[in-house]
Amino acid sequence: MKDANKQNRVPRIVTCPKCGADVEWVAENRYRPFCSARCKGVDFVAWATDGYRIEATEEPHPEDQSE
Ligand SMILES: [Zn+2]
Repeated sequence: MKDANKQNRVPRIVTCPKCGADVEWVAENRYRPFCSARCKGVDFVAWATDGYRIEATEEPHPEDQSE
């Protein structure tokens, strides 16, 4: 019964980079390494919020033209 090994496998636990919560590194967690969509989407919320100046991230990168 080789399948028995799979059931004994413990998912890897990582730490959410945003809030520090424990996150199971499993396939069904599409937000990994974040714990939730809210943590993963924090940047999106930030630039979508009035007051956040997206221009600050529009700096040109000379290295992008190296191709
Ligand atoms: Zn989190």
